[in-house]
Amino acid sequence: MQTGTKARAHPRAGATAAEGKARPQHAGGLIIKCKRCGTARAFYTHKPLERYHCLECKAYTPLPPELAPVEVICECGKIFKYQTNVTDPRFDARCVECSAPVAVEYDEKSGRYCTIGAERRDRRRPGR
Ligand SMILES: [Zn+2]
Ligand SMILES: [Zn+2]
Repeated sequence: MQTGTKARAHPRAGATAAEGKARPQHAGGLIIKCKRCGTARAFYTHKPLERYHCLECKAYTPLPPELAPVEVICECGKIFKYQTNVTDPRFDARCVECSAPVAVEYDEKSGRYCTIGAERRDRRRPGR
């Protein structure tokens, strides 16, 4: 584990499709936590965002260059891929399909947030 590499990694590394864009922008499924009031919201955006406008307190939260991947596996069977600026060990995501809260936990091995209890469901699945 190298601790110095993450800070030095430049956003343009591996960003062949988005060349020419220096500013961090994120699109797709996002779970963004407000810096001021702490309210996290899951949403989809087609327009790349540089900052998040909180609907609760109206504050703007700038998005970091790198977001952590989140895999939400809801009990309703839906699977969503998000990116998040949350850094807590665990938090409640929300299914955009049925609005049920889905607890996710940071998994250091894979470097992403995984749904708590989802492995159990995986193992019960027949086949490969
Ligand atoms: Zn807020
Ligand atoms: Zn659901």
